[in-house]
Amino acid sequence: MHYLDHSATTAVIPEAAQAALRAMCDAFGNPSSQHRMGIEAAAELKAARETIASAIGCSGGEIYFTSCGTESTNTALFGAAFKNRHFGKHIVTTAIEHAATLQTCKRLESEGFRVTYLQPDADGHITVEDFQNALEDGTILASVMLVNNELGTMMDVASFGKILKRRCPKALFHIDAVQGFCRVPLTPAKWSCDLMSISGHKIGAPKGIGALYMKKGTNLRPYLVGGGQESGMRSGTEAIPNIAAFAKACEIRMTHLKEDYALVERLNAALRNGISERFPWALVNGAADIPHVLNVSFPGCKSEVMLRVLESDEVYVSAGSACSKGKESHVLKAIGLDKARIDSALRVSFSPTNTEQDVEAFLNAVEKGAKMLKR
Ligand code: PLP
Repeated sequence: MHYLDHSATTAVIPEAAQAALRAMCDAFGNPSSQHRMGIEAAAELKAARETIASAIGCSGGEIYFTSCGTESTNTALFGAAFKNRHFGKHIVTTAIEHAATLQTCKRLESEGFRVTYLQPDADGHITVEDFQNALEDGTILASVMLVNNELGTMMDVASFGKILKRRCPKALFHIDAVQGFCRVPLTPAKWSCDLMSISGHKIGAPKGIGALYMKKGTNLRPYLVGGGQESGMRSGTEAIPNIAAFAKACEIRMTHLKEDYALVERLNAALRNGISERFPWALVNGAADIPHVLNVSFPGCKSEVMLRVLESDEVYVSAGSACSKGKESHVLKAIGLDKARIDSALRVSFSPTNTEQDVEAFLNAVEKGAKMLKR
């Protein structure tokens, strides 16, 4: 099996699965219980919070566990818009965000907020100038992704944060760092960031766990209310097995961050070389800044058919984001690609578990597909 779809999701790291199993079967107490089992679960929760916090250089009190990146983003955007609605109704985001952000913004529009969707350049970047020009007196929130899930491009969040705080001091800055977490260093404090979303299943933890970084003093209205868990920000008994696994996966990934990055860089280079040698007619889409993602079109070879051909050789990639399920990619459209190029795009996304054999298997399968499909 050659799984090259790590932007969609990742396999759970065995040590993370072990941590979840232990929390499910042995240390299964409710962290709110007063007895020993509860106290042990609360200690597990605290330790996990500290692990995630240290990975992004913040304090444990600034990390709130959620069920996924989508929930973190919903909590951040609805909370920030509601908190700041007396100062203005204008929100800035980008046209290439994940659906978690775009759909939340659409909902906010239906509730009377106005949203500017910044368009990327042909490489897939949002320019600092465009960001600056979009800000108004009534801008109360900006939400920008760190790493684009389809292209692997990185946004200049440090400049955006600085400009936002200077021009609109009351505005809050949310960063969707789901695709950057444990791949590149995250430094919300240096980015003037108030809120940041991360997710477990992209880093080798199970599905069903995410976190929201909320800078101390931000105090948003909670999205879920009830028993007051997560300092009142996210009620519901904490999913300790998932949280323990998230912390373990994070610890492992952060310990190997540099060598993992170098490994993925080598795989990316092998892939690019293989593509340019064997398919000189293929077209790379966007200018990826991190090596974990490569988006490439094989004109004449429809992505959906190519996916099936690749699958028959146990090579798994994607035609766009997993959430878009066959719909035309809004990201590739936004960078101005024509239909033929969009319809023939494949996204290869690596994790440090991949090998050169995976790259070779992909290239061989594409060759087979191209022979069948290209006219
Ligand atoms: N943001 C980005 C950039 C993503 O790639 C994803 C998932 O693909 C999400 C948010 C949503 O994360 P989750 O699947 O944990 O809800």
